[in-house]
Amino acid sequence: MNFERDCSLIIIDLQNDFCADGSLAVNEGDKIINKINSLQTKFSSIVLTQDWHPLDHLSFASNQNNKTPYETVEMSYGVQVLWPNHCVQGTFGAEFHKDLDTSKANMIIRKGYRKQIDSYSAFYENDKKTLTGLDGFLKQNNIKKVYLCGLALDFCVYYSAIDATNLGYETYVILNATKAIELDGSKNKSLKDMEIKNVNLIHL
Ligand SMILES: [Zn+2]
Repeated sequence: MNFERDCSLIIIDLQNDFCADGSLAVNEGDKIINKINSLQTKFSSIVLTQDWHPLDHLSFASNQNNKTPYETVEMSYGVQVLWPNHCVQGTFGAEFHKDLDTSKANMIIRKGYRKQIDSYSAFYENDKKTLTGLDGFLKQNNIKKVYLCGLALDFCVYYSAIDATNLGYETYVILNATKAIELDGSKNKSLKDMEIKNVNLIHL
C-alpha cells in the first residue's frame, strides 16, 4: 500500500551518535533502519531531521559547571535535561547512519544549532516559540497527515508528535520504527501522553 500525497514520513534523528557506539546511543537504535528504508518506498513526501549542535551547546553537561549527563538545569525556557556531547556539527556522530537511505528525502531539517536553546521537536525549539521551518514546508506542500519514526521515541519523536497534533496534523507514530532512550519512566509517560492527545500509535 502506498500513502497518499497528503501524507509525509518524518524520520527523526537517525544519526550515528544515537546508534550503536554513539555518544548518546539509543538501545537497538540501528535495528529500525531497514524498516524505515522500506517505509520510505511508500511515501512521496519524506523529511529527515538532524540534531546539529555547536560544541558549546548549553544542553551538553560538559558546558555547565559541576554537572553530569542526565542531571537537569533550569534554562530560560524551563527545565532542560543535560546530555553527553552528541551530534556536534560536522562530526561523524552528527552524520546520518550509513545504512539509512537519504536519497528520497525532500527536506532535511537541522535543529538545536543555537547555543542557548535545545530542540527536541522537529517543529519548535524547546522554548516552544522558535519555529524550525517544518510546519511551513508541510503546509505549502498540502500535507495533512504526518507519520513519525526514528529516534528517540520518548524525546524527539514524542515532542514532534505532540507539536504535530497541536498544529492540526493527523499524527501517527510508527511504534515498530522507533526506539526509546528510557530515562526515569520517560517511555511510558510519553506513550500515555500521546494517547491522551490524540496521537495515533500504530504498527506498519
Ligand atoms: Zn541534541
